[in-house]
Amino acid sequence: MAWSWWNRASTGSAPRTWRAEGIPGALARHAGVPGFDQARLSAAHVLCVGAGGLIGHVAPALARKGVGALTIIDDDDVEPSNLNRQFFHAADVGRNKAEALAGRLLPICTAATRITAVPAAFEAAARGLVVGRADVAVVGVDNDAARLAASRFFRAATTPVVFCAVSADADHGYVLVQAPDGPCPACLMPDVSAGTRPCPGTPAVIDILQAIGALATYAIDACLMARATSWNYRRFSLNRPAEDGAAAIPRRPACPNCGADLEHYQIA
Ligand SMILES: [Zn+2]
Repeated sequence: MAWSWWNRASTGSAPRTWRAEGIPGALARHAGVPGFDQARLSAAHVLCVGAGGLIGHVAPALARKGVGALTIIDDDDVEPSNLNRQFFHAADVGRNKAEALAGRLLPICTAATRITAVPAAFEAAARGLVVGRADVAVVGVDNDAARLAASRFFRAATTPVVFCAVSADADHGYVLVQAPDGPCPACLMPDVSAGTRPCPGTPAVIDILQAIGALATYAIDACLMARATSWNYRRFSLNRPAEDGAAAIPRRPACPNCGADLEHYQIA
């Protein structure tokens, strides 16, 4: 089997790549979806920053849709408390999340998708240039420091990036599309801070992750092809529909993350 590597030990921080096997006819029902361009998606490389609750819903959708290549970056290991909402099995506990997710995606691929797992922190992966050239990135990390670092890295790389996050009370979340010259997370939320870290044991449940993951998956399509999108910011609440919304937000000239004096930022 293509994923017979399963019981081998992790290789430290070195990237590993596998190729799935295509299934003739599996993608037939995409034909006729307005704006859907299978050839474009099948040639696209999507870079996933994080392999947890959000990417664990985005990456399986991309694998089923026949994306050309996926690179998954995460330095975390799977814990039992992840299994209520992330795309892992009990046998994955203790494995690196990027490698474990790659292993779970291979059996559900519909095309000859190339999957690369990078068991490293994003900043280290970016420094080592192992992220390569992606057509679009999706960031599903749980802290603002990594979001802002990713925002600056992909701005410099002129790569569109889809940010997604959910609230600590598991009621709402957002998706923000950062076009190469578009707004960043700090343009949207001026109080976003590189020092903000989640508290261990923050409540988390699968339903809001599914909802926001679906919106992020759609936003990736919109970055790659002509699926209609009128927004670069989308907010959704499970229980407070008055808070739902979509907007085309502008870049903020005085943004501390992407203002003019920081245009040439590089990860040190
Ligand atoms: Zn900004």
